[in-house]
Amino acid sequence: MSFSALRTWIPRSHGVLRQLQVQKSRNIACLASLSETHQMLYKTCRDFTDSEIIPVAAAIDQKPYFPKEILKKLADLGLMSIVIDEKYGGTGLDYQAYAIAVEEISRGSASVGVISAVTQLFLTFVQDEGTEAQKEKFLTPFTTSGDVCSFALSEPGNGSDAGAATTTAQLQGDHYIVNGTKAWITNAGESVAAAVFVSTNRALKNKGISCILVPKPTEGLTVGKRESKMGIKGSSTCQLIFEDCKIPKENLVGEEGKGFKQAMKTLDGSRIIVAAQALGIAQASLELGVDYASKRQAFGKSISKLQTIQNKIADMAHRIEAARLLIWRAAWLKDNNMPMTKQASMAKLAASEAATFCSHTAIQILGGMGYVTDMPAERYYRDSRVTEIYEGTSEIQRLVIANQVLRELTQ
Ligand SMILES: Cc1cc2nc3c(=O)[nH]c(=O)nc-3n(C[C@H](O)[C@H](O)[C@H](O)COP(=O)(O)OP(=O)(O)OC[C@H]3O[C@@H](n4cnc5c(N)ncnc54)[C@H](O)[C@@H]3O)c2cc1C
Repeated sequence: MSFSALRTWIPRSHGVLRQLQVQKSRNIACLASLSETHQMLYKTCRDFTDSEIIPVAAAIDQKPYFPKEILKKLADLGLMSIVIDEKYGGTGLDYQAYAIAVEEISRGSASVGVISAVTQLFLTFVQDEGTEAQKEKFLTPFTTSGDVCSFALSEPGNGSDAGAATTTAQLQGDHYIVNGTKAWITNAGESVAAAVFVSTNRALKNKGISCILVPKPTEGLTVGKRESKMGIKGSSTCQLIFEDCKIPKENLVGEEGKGFKQAMKTLDGSRIIVAAQALGIAQASLELGVDYASKRQAFGKSISKLQTIQNKIADMAHRIEAARLLIWRAAWLKDNNMPMTKQASMAKLAASEAATFCSHTAIQILGGMGYVTDMPAERYYRDSRVTEIYEGTSEIQRLVIANQVLRELTQ
């Protein structure tokens, strides 16, 4: 089939239908080892993604727009509060379930995946670290509302070095007075609340970091400009600018000075979920590449018959399976309250590198069609890149893994 005939064969208006056909052909045998609950959840998420997310994923990316209706539907299905206890209105499932849901959602749209994951990062943080009064105000109202939340750790001057926060909070009477700027904050444009990491004692460096819960809007807090990003364009990424912003002292999470430890503990769990987001992008890239290769003819036969294309498919598939097993192992450790810092970092590193590899390779398999917006390969490529950056860069994951391995093997 010639290039121009191929473009006619997959007209823009039929792209969605074709994508749905791709998804339906997916072999789910690898899920057979999961519990019945996890398999049912997988099917629910998969159906939801196929029918509600994939049809609008390109529009979310290209316009771009905030997928409010989808988030409300996810909340109605219990998919915006997967690991939150039922007594707070959550779904009461485990991290394995959380990882499955985020993978499937991100297979359709990495933007929806990150918006929902960061909201749940906030909610799990409040569940794990907050008081009952804080949960009443910052957890229960948001578990099924479809509202989104933020987790504000990074600043313009420090991302990897999160312990160097310069945003300050000074106690004056019953309030903290917050000044400074948090940067790169996902959902900042729309969020109704944020966990904000501040310094309550600069001299103590990371031991002076504390976390306060900030409702939005709040006087003294402005949302900075929306970053113009390479990918995940449906999610807003903005600065949060605090100018003499008064926050009640009862919004402090735990004790002063515990914020850095709280953040690192929370990020261990959420790295499993960012890994799941990356895995969803990788899986979507593989399915697209395989579908295209099996239909595209060159030199009189399907390109899927060419060994060089088969090598690409094999390299994508084995990276995906390895990443999925690492994610599921880290989730299992988390669900069984066992140490999993190293395994979460391994899962995040493997899945994000699988995502960038697979989306790159999918473009190569599609040739010219991989480079244009008629097909989603170029979106997968743009969306995958950030998974090697946020929630700890790949360099930081390697640092964490190496430190743990050195400790294990030299003690
Ligand atoms: C789209 C997007 C959304 C984000 N959302 C959020 C959010 O919701 N909340 C939030 O708090 N943050 C968020 N971030 C920030 C993100 O977590 C940081 O960008 C990330 O941690 C890297 O920090 P940095 O950008 O300051 O890079 P830097 O820390 O300046 O790193 C620059 C380079 O140096 C390397 N490097 C730094 N330190 C070391 C080291 N010790 N060893 C080896 N290499 C090192 C890094 O790996 C990287 O390659 C987001 C970022 C993006 C792009």
